[in-house]
Amino acid sequence: CGIVGYAGPQSASPSSRPVDVALQGLARLEYRGYDSAGIAVIDGGSVRLEKRAGKLQNLRDALEAREDMTGAVSIGHTRWATHGSPTDTNAHPHLGGREDELALVHNGIIENFAALRAELESEGYSFRSETDSEAAAHLVAREMERAGDLTEAMRRATAHLEGAFTLLAVHRDAPGTVVAARRNSPLVVGLGDGENFLGSDVAAFVDSTKEALEIDHDQIVTVTADTVHVIDADGTEVSDPKRFTIEWDVTA
Ligand code: GLU
Repeated sequence: CGIVGYAGPQSASPSSRPVDVALQGLARLEYRGYDSAGIAVIDGGSVRLEKRAGKLQNLRDALEAREDMTGAVSIGHTRWATHGSPTDTNAHPHLGGREDELALVHNGIIENFAALRAELESEGYSFRSETDSEAAAHLVAREMERAGDLTEAMRRATAHLEGAFTLLAVHRDAPGTVVAARRNSPLVVGLGDGENFLGSDVAAFVDSTKEALEIDHDQIVTVTADTVHVIDADGTEVSDPKRFTIEWDVTA
């Protein structure tokens, strides 16, 4: 339902940790409605994740007990369940890979998830949830094993996906990077100073920046604290993504 992503400075201060930026973004997206929420970060070469069914406050409370949710990138999600009941396990992010090396959030519906799940299970990937989204998590992780590059992994994964999606992924081997893709589901990039944002909606980051990029259908965007890189489905660089200034006043 709602998606946020953040790549910030390595030495984020305790008051502006990436996990808190994601939490704040999710709060800004609460108006859309949701049944669960979760956040993942990459810290010290591992994926850390917390997710809870119910109100954002449940996630906030769970995060209070976590001192290990540091790191320079974060992704967050508020879920409106389509496949699988609203439980902690079915909440996003979903882990992917043989060693839980990736985390992914998804808005929309992966139409061919059952076939993908059967294929990935036969290759030894184990599933925890009942969601369509978890197939995308393992798929991007598998493509990362093969390609060794997270942007290329996301590009190859989207070629196997049918349906509507906004996807954001982080991987332990790409610790400062968030990669994202979209098809028939919204995704915008917020351009900060030494930090960059992703959102399913500009509300996710409008408190922090008014400068944004539109991402087109079937484009892949790779964000670090200092760079934003867009490619299309065949891997060609998009040198002039559409830039715009958010006009609304958030203090109102
Ligand atoms: N289809 C996914 C699920 O049921 C994503 C739903 C959403 O867009 O929030 O988990």
